[in-house]
Amino acid sequence: MLNFYMPVRLYGGKSCFEKHREEIASFGKSCLLVTGASSAKKSGAFEEVTGILNSLDIAWSLYDGVRENPTVASCMEAGKIAAEKNVSFILGIGGGSPLDAAKAVSVFAANPSLDETAFYKKEWDNNPLPILLVGTTAGTGSEVTDVSVLTDSKKKKHSIHDPRMYAKLSFCDPAYTMSLPLPVTLSTGIDVLAHAAESYFSKKANEISRAFSVRSISLLYRPLEKAASGEELSFDEREALFEAAILGGLAICVTGTCFPHNVGYYLTETYHVPHGIACATFLEDFLKHVKTVDAKYSEEFYDRIRIDENSLTELIRKVLPQSDIRMTPEKIKKALPRWENNGSVNNTLGTVHLEDIQAYLSEKFVY
Ligand code: NAP
Ligand code: ZN
Repeated sequence: MLNFYMPVRLYGGKSCFEKHREEIASFGKSCLLVTGASSAKKSGAFEEVTGILNSLDIAWSLYDGVRENPTVASCMEAGKIAAEKNVSFILGIGGGSPLDAAKAVSVFAANPSLDETAFYKKEWDNNPLPILLVGTTAGTGSEVTDVSVLTDSKKKKHSIHDPRMYAKLSFCDPAYTMSLPLPVTLSTGIDVLAHAAESYFSKKANEISRAFSVRSISLLYRPLEKAASGEELSFDEREALFEAAILGGLAICVTGTCFPHNVGYYLTETYHVPHGIACATFLEDFLKHVKTVDAKYSEEFYDRIRIDENSLTELIRKVLPQSDIRMTPEKIKKALPRWENNGSVNNTLGTVHLEDIQAYLSEKFVY
């Protein structure tokens, strides 16, 4: 059954932020920039964005305390700063971490006394401030989702989604991704593949999401292959990766993700594995699982993406680095309850039992 909603006004291409300066000005006279430690500056986005804000007479303050797998606490801190300064909008610059953080900051800015529990329960008295996003990785698709993935005070990653957290404007300038180091290109690129594939085999997939998934993988395959061989990517290839990332984001707007994402969170929380690599660790298991559930649907997937199963598996293996993670069977057993009645696990086509997850983890990490 069809269903699709995505209200973000998206602009892509070189210098897209500058080209839409008038629209940016319509969000008010002051903003809080939300960034990571250095990516906004390394990518060139910070200089261009602040130059344009200055020329538009928009006052800006900077919160650059977002770290990978951002914490709710850091978003609260930034939200309080935004409230004190009485800014009119929040502008996130960076990869998924600063963009996801910017969404939560906009909630805390409008509700500065909100605590973590009330935040997750969405007991927000006031609507979040308008959110503008400037992406610097081509991966999460956070630019077009209403999802924010944050680490709570118990150091657990949770995604929260709410239509009030959609950005008003998102900018996808591939020039900002030219500075990505190879490991980040690979991790963010394989995250795109995980989004598109998980979405395709989600119980919630429909013709719209499948079309996004298929095109995303078609755009992604060659540049990611090239990057996995250690070759530099051109602007056009970076642009294709960014487009693939956005299409992947649109696919998960409809369906959400499946078990590789949630099991991947465990690797990130416990062993600090980068998000995309963590999720892709279980992608081959996932593709095998869905094939056993519905061989015809799986065959149709490879036909539609025009990549055969072996080549896709080879790409996943090529991107995944050697892992030196070791787990004991007891440790795995202890972790299992977190996947009981888990949304992403239940979203996967067929049935994924806790014993299946136990087997995936054991095969890889118990020696
Ligand atoms: P990220 O965590 O935002 O960034 C990874 C690393 O790359 C950081 O060290 C960052 O530096 C650096 N970096 C970013 N852009 C750069 C550039 N242009 N040049 C040089 N370095 C750059 O990575 P991400 O994979 O984009 O985001 C991952 C997060 O998004 C995870 O928390 C994940 O759970 C979440 N996620 C969200 C969604 C969604 O729909 N909202 C979907 C999937 C995943 P800085 O630290 O300086 O920024
Ligand atoms: Zn992801």
